Amino acid sequence: MSKPTDLHELITSIQDGHEMVEFHESENPHLGLFYVIDEKLYWEGVPLESIQDSYHYRIYPKMHPTFWNDTILKNRPELNKFDAYYFPRGRVVYDKKLSRYELVADKCIIRKEKIVSRIIIEMKLPRKHTEILGDPHYECFKCKAEKISKLESELEKLAAK
Ligand SMILES: [Zn+2]
Repeated sequence: MSKPTDLHELITSIQDGHEMVEFHESENPHLGLFYVIDEKLYWEGVPLESIQDSYHYRIYPKMHPTFWNDTILKNRPELNKFDAYYFPRGRVVYDKKLSRYELVADKCIIRKEKIVSRIIIEMKLPRKHTEILGDPHYECFKCKAEKISKLESELEKLAAK
């Protein structure tokens, strides 16, 4: 065997080693839901294998209002003047058909790489197999207000014509 081939094999084996390390770090990924309040992450979830199997999506069976009332408000009672839809929020699900985790969240969370990384690390998600998706279903008060003011200015433009 020539030297370049040995080197190639060495590099390949190092890369394989890295993949194994990454896989190890990503053991026990969690599904769940979260809020981001004042740049802080609040999440709750359970390991994938403890979630009931389904044909397509595997989802942690708790809704944001329950998480808000039972957990967030217990920890942050001063937030009781806000409802469950006020702050940026999202969820991690598993898409069985595509064999991937999906981090679905408000676009103002998706935009912040630091927060997205924190979610991936804390919920032990395998980066390579995690898709980060925005979803209008998860829209905080600020994003909603932005959208409404955009719509209003478009309407005004139309009315002026
Ligand atoms: Zn938002």
